[in-house]
Amino acid sequence: MKAREFWFVVGSQHLYGPEVLETVAARAQEMADAINASDLIPYKFIYKATVKTSEEITKMAKEANYDDNCCGIVTWCHTFSPSKMWIGGLEILQKPRCHFATQYNREIPNDEIDMDFMNLNQAAHGDREHGFIGARLGKAVKVIMGYWKDEAPLRELGLWMRAAAAVDESRNLKVCRFGDNMRNVAVTEGDKVEAQRVLGWEVNTWAVGDLVKEMNAVTEEEIDALMAEYAEKYTMNTDKLDHVRYQAREEIAIKRHLDSVGCKAYTNTFEDLYGMEQLPGLASQRLMEQGYGYGGEGDWKVAAMTRIIKVMCEGMGGGSAFMEDYTYHLTEGQEYSLGAHMLEVCPTLAADKPRIETHHLGIGMNDKDPARLVFEGKKGKGTVCSLVDMGGRMRLIVQDIEAVEPIMEMPNLPVARVMWRAYPDLCTGAKLWILAGGAHHTVLSYDATAEMLEDWAEMMGIEYIHIGKETTVESLKNKLIWNDLAWKLR
Ligand code: MN
Repeated sequence: MKAREFWFVVGSQHLYGPEVLETVAARAQEMADAINASDLIPYKFIYKATVKTSEEITKMAKEANYDDNCCGIVTWCHTFSPSKMWIGGLEILQKPRCHFATQYNREIPNDEIDMDFMNLNQAAHGDREHGFIGARLGKAVKVIMGYWKDEAPLRELGLWMRAAAAVDESRNLKVCRFGDNMRNVAVTEGDKVEAQRVLGWEVNTWAVGDLVKEMNAVTEEEIDALMAEYAEKYTMNTDKLDHVRYQAREEIAIKRHLDSVGCKAYTNTFEDLYGMEQLPGLASQRLMEQGYGYGGEGDWKVAAMTRIIKVMCEGMGGGSAFMEDYTYHLTEGQEYSLGAHMLEVCPTLAADKPRIETHHLGIGMNDKDPARLVFEGKKGKGTVCSLVDMGGRMRLIVQDIEAVEPIMEMPNLPVARVMWRAYPDLCTGAKLWILAGGAHHTVLSYDATAEMLEDWAEMMGIEYIHIGKETTVESLKNKLIWNDLAWKLR
């Protein structure tokens, strides 16, 4: 994982004298070391300072802004830190902030407690003053409350750190488009200038011809090496090895191009494969497996989101991927959605070893049956999310889902597939998704929770809609109406 780090900044003041401040600093260091050592904390957690004046707080904020490794600050008040001191620093702070309301001691010591103890241990007091200025300034802040040695708050902190790391990824993301969006499609479109302003993404196009030139430069030896890797990782279920070799050529060329221009996500479209024999199937699946974002039909928003969620969930082990809602199974009591794509489903979702197969693909400009990985998705709880451009603002829609073992074999379906039920139930869930304007393209993740995605959306300053167990048509319609008004007033 990248050298990302988070700073633990403890608020105090000079009122208590140097001895108390020394104790506060020593304890803060002890807490940071213990938190940093926890398996629930994915990035470095560093005690930065006990800040006591507005100058110190502003200096800390400036340092955080200019430190590329610092992906967020976590604040806490062991003692009382008068919050007017925080106004200047928090106003200029450009990094995500979490207010960790915790306390050094777990219990009130019955015999020991006196006014000296109260002066030193007043987190309940200090955290409220600190909370007020957070609310008053109206900036995104994550509030976590609980004892710093307990699992629940540390888990919450770890997941927030992941969302904040994804903010860092978003602000540095470049997306490559090979060709334009699929003709006439609305939901894959969007304002790229606004996306760059709000989300940080640089979304630019490169000619398919440039990619073809790169493909022609790939050597047979390079393809041989990749074919050996394919043979080891997947089951070769086709005799058309030259088709598979063509995908290897595409994989090497796309990767080379992306790395040369610094892009971590890309799109292409079956409508523009000029000079290519196959739509990249296996090639795109392999690149997603390596962590690149991808979106079909020119969908650069889902390509970027795929990359961002892969970074958010790095090392969690479940898998996150570009997905498309395809078709329903509507037997009463057994309602499911079947997700797949023409070719490009990321093998991190696979329940078993994927098979390489070649099949005819009628859509697009394929001279040869494209090779692709075919597999069933694993079962488990997860989310799907979709970023849509509402005209003047971006909306992130997140739905809780539960993937199941597919209830039939579908032997003639030549693509990877995942079957799931959506919350609150498939029919209501689909209705709510449609009302919110969610796309057919999504990022499906077994790792990203709705809360992580909500944290990310809040830090990015975009609209967030969640569809879960408790969501009703009435509650969602209300939320959409009020959100619409609120966002127009911004
Ligand atoms: Mn599609």
